[in-house]
Amino acid sequence: MASPGETVAPNDQTAKRFRDLLQIVRENRPNDDLEIVERAFEYSRQNHEGQLRVSGEPYLIHPLEVAILLADMKLDTTAIAAGLLHDSVEDTAVTTELLRQKFGEQVAHIVEGVTKISKIDFASREEAQAENVRKMMLAMVDDIRVVLIKLADRLHNMRTLEPLSKERQVKIAKETLEIYAPLAHRLGMGKVRGELEDLAFPYVDPVGYQSVVKQVDILRQDGETALAHMVEVIGHKLKEAGINVVRVDSRFKRLYSIYQKVLRQKITPDQMYDVMALRVITYSVNDCYAVLGIIHNAWRPVPGRIKDFIAMPRPNLYQSLHTTVIGESGHLFEVQIRTEEMHKLAEEGIAAHWKYKDGPISARDEQRLSWLRQVVEWQREMADPGEFLSTLKIDLYPEEVYTFTPKGKVVILPRDATTIDFAYTVHTEVGHTCVGAKINGRMVPLRTKLHSGDIVEIMTQAGHNPSRDWLGVVKSSRARQKIKHWLNIHQRERAIEIGRKLIEKEARKYRIALKDVKDADLLRAAAEYGVARVDDLQAGIGYGKYSARSVLAKVVPGSNLAPGGEEQQNAALKRTFGAEGGAITVRGTDDLLVYRARCCNPIRGEEIVGYVTRGKGVAVHSKTCSNVQNLMYEPERKIAVEWSSKEPKLVGAPPAYPVKLVVASDDRPGIITAVSAVISNEEANIRSIEAKTGNARATIDIVLDTRDVNHLNRIITGIRRVGGVHNVERVLKMVT
Ligand code: MN
Repeated sequence: MASPGETVAPNDQTAKRFRDLLQIVRENRPNDDLEIVERAFEYSRQNHEGQLRVSGEPYLIHPLEVAILLADMKLDTTAIAAGLLHDSVEDTAVTTELLRQKFGEQVAHIVEGVTKISKIDFASREEAQAENVRKMMLAMVDDIRVVLIKLADRLHNMRTLEPLSKERQVKIAKETLEIYAPLAHRLGMGKVRGELEDLAFPYVDPVGYQSVVKQVDILRQDGETALAHMVEVIGHKLKEAGINVVRVDSRFKRLYSIYQKVLRQKITPDQMYDVMALRVITYSVNDCYAVLGIIHNAWRPVPGRIKDFIAMPRPNLYQSLHTTVIGESGHLFEVQIRTEEMHKLAEEGIAAHWKYKDGPISARDEQRLSWLRQVVEWQREMADPGEFLSTLKIDLYPEEVYTFTPKGKVVILPRDATTIDFAYTVHTEVGHTCVGAKINGRMVPLRTKLHSGDIVEIMTQAGHNPSRDWLGVVKSSRARQKIKHWLNIHQRERAIEIGRKLIEKEARKYRIALKDVKDADLLRAAAEYGVARVDDLQAGIGYGKYSARSVLAKVVPGSNLAPGGEEQQNAALKRTFGAEGGAITVRGTDDLLVYRARCCNPIRGEEIVGYVTRGKGVAVHSKTCSNVQNLMYEPERKIAVEWSSKEPKLVGAPPAYPVKLVVASDDRPGIITAVSAVISNEEANIRSIEAKTGNARATIDIVLDTRDVNHLNRIITGIRRVGGVHNVERVLKMVT
């Protein structure tokens, strides 16, 4: 402070406060090297040169005061340097990269985190989202120092809110009450929370503020004296009992706390038990209970007001004994009794945990993390974990990502969610028609995974449709459901169309003019299949549930295509496909084209499963095919298929299933001959064989015709036995 008569130029003020800062760091952390703090101050001074706050002060005073708050919290020099630089990237030409070069990875990383949070315009959000925003803030930071700097930043801004416009004041104060004060509470930082709330209160609710001030002033008139008297008497009683305590404090309940209680419990301040409070700070836990006994002996306790938060800590780790007693004056006094350590934790929260610890930064970080882990561990054992710890858990083990729409709405998605999940969360139609996305202004592929803090913009195109592949990409159940629903509906449309065409085809075959068929006949046929509408009947044919021919027989009774018994019909359904000559039976239909899926090329004897495709007939997959997993989402398209029981007796060559094998072996002469010999001994036709060599190794690609899976297995075993062969693998996909 300036002595009287001395004029203080702004630069002198910052120089003085900087000396204060160094002094605090020296006192709190005598072993820390101040060099990085000095350099950060100098760099911040240069970068904010010429910038002024609304108050007209040099801008530098703000980062400097923030750094002093951090130093008061006894944070390390890395955090203090980052505090001095916290507005550099946002407000000056400095980049994170430059900070990294000059101050190292940690400082740059912390400033980057603070900048990221600062860019978010919390005020544009709905009030109901405050909780999400707080969670998101914790999810966005991987270093708790970022949050502490943000809180110090906000605290200084709140202390210097006066020069701002009315509108800005209200906006910042509201945001403080909704986001920052609860965040400080979560972190157990009671002092910061209290100051933030009381600073914001008059701006957010001037009328409520005035009324509380008036009522509390009345209470203060004789309350202050009574409170002072109590402090004195307690001091005497403790001395008499021979109990040495650290100190006895007293306080009036904070205005905003009183106000909240007024709103919550609809009572006036003079009806509250805890407007006047005494606090006894002891040297040991045992002393806490001893002090409680002495106080209850001296004054009558109010029933139901005795609380033991030492044995049962609050979720934010608060520990203390509470009681309320009736003083001689008739006033109610809340008495809080706790040890110095418990008191520090209550006032300073998480910051209290690493303040006295020294040593290399990485070790300190490890300690901090292990403490946080311990807390999470503890939470699991607690009956009522409470919200504080669940928030911490998100911080340490994020299972959700917190993202934004360009308008600032928070969108919460499961971990590893993609832009497609985001699109479906915004709106189903946005999901269906999304074709691309921008994350933080940059174009990305749709399947890109999102991170907390990403601002996501979805690009849509009218008429664009969801893809089945998306089912394998999305992580949110909402997106999955919507995609499945769309596919079901549209598959149905396809199925109806296929069904209609199959009936037409069948009708042509039997020379029945469909235009002569009456609607009533169709409806009657539908009823016979237990469906209400002609659409459903057609869809059933399209899905392969009913055969077009048997439906037609019911529609046109007396035609010469009477189906006879179901069994007889089934016998007629065996169908061969392609030139390969194998037989696959599709139960219940003979109308659909059956083909082996190219992704897995099942061969005779393998377990198979059929799916009605969009307009292409029935695809037969191997049960182990990875595509089958995706197809499982639509069980109604599944159709039973089996290899026909009898070996088909066809004229000419026996049925052959081409299979591709890749053989890994030593590169030695004669190995191809030996492998070929195994194959021809099994009477299999080799379509092609090709070897690549290098590094004394050879890879041999073989395409050969097999009869069935047993035949193939014999061949593979045979090749494996050839000397020099290391591995034989079947390549499922024949065509790339
Ligand atoms: Mn700032």
